[in-house]
Amino acid sequence: MEKRTEIGEIGEFGLIDRIKNNFQLKNTETLAGIGDDAAIYQPQSQVVHSTELFIEGVHFDLAYTPLPHLGFKIVSATLSDIAAMNAIPKQITIGIGLSNRFSVEAVESLYEGIQMACDEYGVDLVGGDTTASPTGLIISVNALGEADAATLVKRSGAQANDVLCVTGDLGGAIMGLQALDREKQVFLANPGMQPELEGKSYVIMRQLKPVARFDIIHELKSLGVVPTSMIDCSDGLSSELIHLSRSSNVGVRIFEKNIPIDDETFLVATELNFSPLTAALNGGEDYELIFTVSQADYEKVSKIADVTAIGFITNQPSEQILIMKSEQVVSLSAPGFGK
Ligand code: ADP
Ligand code: MG
Repeated sequence: MEKRTEIGEIGEFGLIDRIKNNFQLKNTETLAGIGDDAAIYQPQSQVVHSTELFIEGVHFDLAYTPLPHLGFKIVSATLSDIAAMNAIPKQITIGIGLSNRFSVEAVESLYEGIQMACDEYGVDLVGGDTTASPTGLIISVNALGEADAATLVKRSGAQANDVLCVTGDLGGAIMGLQALDREKQVFLANPGMQPELEGKSYVIMRQLKPVARFDIIHELKSLGVVPTSMIDCSDGLSSELIHLSRSSNVGVRIFEKNIPIDDETFLVATELNFSPLTAALNGGEDYELIFTVSQADYEKVSKIADVTAIGFITNQPSEQILIMKSEQVVSLSAPGFGK
């Protein structure tokens, strides 16, 4: 049996000490991290700040989410909002509510993933809060990042005729979730069954280990391109495009034939009787970036391998439409909420 140490045995301070010992501070902006009443941050430019809250049973299911993956994912999800401002992340804090189901080793597994994410993104874990929860696991992540005022990007700057771009591919994370959930149901009905996840590794990694797209933020910077507007894709393409067009008071037109969907997403969707297009439009949790650029800048952006132009911005704020391969025109709608 794996070792299980109750949190009560080492206490909250013992637990925080164990966490602290594994984290080194990397950024010169961080003047103080874990250990005082508050961390200290020395900004070099404008500061952006974002928070996400993750609740067991609502945002994640520990039946199929390994704790290190959960740790990595919650940091990616939070930093994706910093990327969507065209900013560079510097610090995070983590608040956790733990029921007595969780051992010291379980918390260490969670922080193993958090640490991997801190290394991946070059951020410092500078503090948090630890408390008891009557049931389940609750985690809140706060992030601080920076950008020069001139290069910060909001949702509100899209202009008519701008090109609408997305990074990576869409719909994979929801198909990974569907595949994992189906295996969970099979397992609950028959605990002897082995999971049947062959041919689904890409979509499962999209669900369990999403990566915030700072690679694209750096590429845009090196090309000297500042998007006119940007949002990250956490709730599905449709809902994000509706936010973007409302904030910018413009319309959007996208083309089904241009929406990037990975072959494996397509195959898994077909196998599970799910529409790949619906997965891309309404699935969520892909954490790709959706942004607009002027036509002149699009020439440069088209050189980035992992960016696809899916449509353009119009001057009709009431128009949020998808043009199907059949040339049928449908309105975008946003059924997703709250994740
Ligand atoms: P206080 O009572 O002043 O809030 P705490 O005992 O809650 O102090 O926290 C002590 C130190 O440990 C602080 O620097 C805090 O930011 C940090 N800390 C507490 N919980 C966590 C956690 N879950 N993850 C990371 N740092 C934490
Ligand atoms: Mg505290």
